[in-house]
Amino acid sequence: MGSSFAFPLSLWALDQPLTGKTSVGARAFCGFQAAFAETETPIHKQKQWFRETFDHLFAIANSAEAGEAGVHLISGWQIFQNIPTEEAPFWADVVLGFRKMTEVELKKFPQHVFGQAFTTLKCEGSAYLPWLEKRVKESGGQLLTRRIEDLWELHPSFDIVVNCSGLGSRELVGDLKIFPVRGQLLKVQAPWVKHFIRDGSGLTYIYPGVSNVSLGGSRQKGDWNLVPDAEISRDILSRCCALEPSLHGACDIKEKVGLRPFRAGIRLQKEFLARNGRRLPVVHHYGHGSGGFCVHWGTALEAARLLSECVQALRTSTPNSKL
Ligand SMILES: Cc1cc2nc3c(=O)[nH]c(=O)nc-3n(C[C@H](O)[C@H](O)[C@H](O)COP(=O)(O)OP(=O)(O)OC[C@H]3O[C@@H](n4cnc5c(N)ncnc54)[C@H](O)[C@@H]3O)c2cc1C
Repeated sequence: MGSSFAFPLSLWALDQPLTGKTSVGARAFCGFQAAFAETETPIHKQKQWFRETFDHLFAIANSAEAGEAGVHLISGWQIFQNIPTEEAPFWADVVLGFRKMTEVELKKFPQHVFGQAFTTLKCEGSAYLPWLEKRVKESGGQLLTRRIEDLWELHPSFDIVVNCSGLGSRELVGDLKIFPVRGQLLKVQAPWVKHFIRDGSGLTYIYPGVSNVSLGGSRQKGDWNLVPDAEISRDILSRCCALEPSLHGACDIKEKVGLRPFRAGIRLQKEFLARNGRRLPVVHHYGHGSGGFCVHWGTALEAARLLSECVQALRTSTPNSKL
């Protein structure tokens, strides 16, 4: 028997939410870390995770798999009504061709005085997650879908648990530091929109995708409500039309709501649970807030390093281990 790990997961199970609390952003945009504005994670760490994720997605975007994986390059603008205090964001040298917008470009946005143009990556969750799932299966991984009430349920069937349960960690491991930040958005048909537009802090955004355009958004701290709010939808549409007037002609408008799993710092940590003389190593990997797609590969590499340390620890503590 080989070693066995359990992943109450997350990025691989987004289309089958067990809790109904999972993020359904299901499209993601790499280039912005407003997600981490309140984080305890140092900037150099955020940048490392972002770069590793960007490199990983960039390689996919440049491969024959790009279409199936739903990973594409996208260009556009981040615009500001006031000149930002920081000269350039920390991710400026990770995305492609980051530069200040020209006066002519800014004419498109008469309410804005400053802007940055760049090319980044868009990762469509509805394609990317099934693609990752397929790769796991092709590599011999088994996927079991069920709700876990207590991590000890997984012992002894699994030697090590990787806990990627997002907001579920509130109940599963009693972590009250994690909370939802509700996000509402619209998916519309407007195939003529080809550039992304993001306003200042990112509350208002227009992200064109393969089959629709995402218009956002909202950020409601501590709100668990998954039912779309018509007033918020009207406000989103009006804010987006102010940036891109052609959106008045958008059709087939669908409302979506998701909950961002926020925490003051992603929890990336080993823990050795002990009960009645038994030990269960756990690697916690959750709390990605609004940046899960932006940094997922980088944080997963770190989780994999912690996992290797657990394997090592099990091998030394149980000499007859099959690990
Ligand atoms: C509107 C919106 C827009 C977003 N935009 C972006 C963006 O542009 N860029 C970006 O990088 N990120 C964005 N995000 C954030 C991104 O979607 C999240 O950071 C990411 O999905 C978090 O992934 P996760 O796997 O950690 O958690 P989740 O996606 O919440 O997944 C947790 C999983 O654990 C499962 N689970 C929980 N409890 C249990 C249990 N007890 N037993 C078994 N399974 C359990 C759940 O069912 C779920 O499948 C956005 C989010 C929203 C809501």
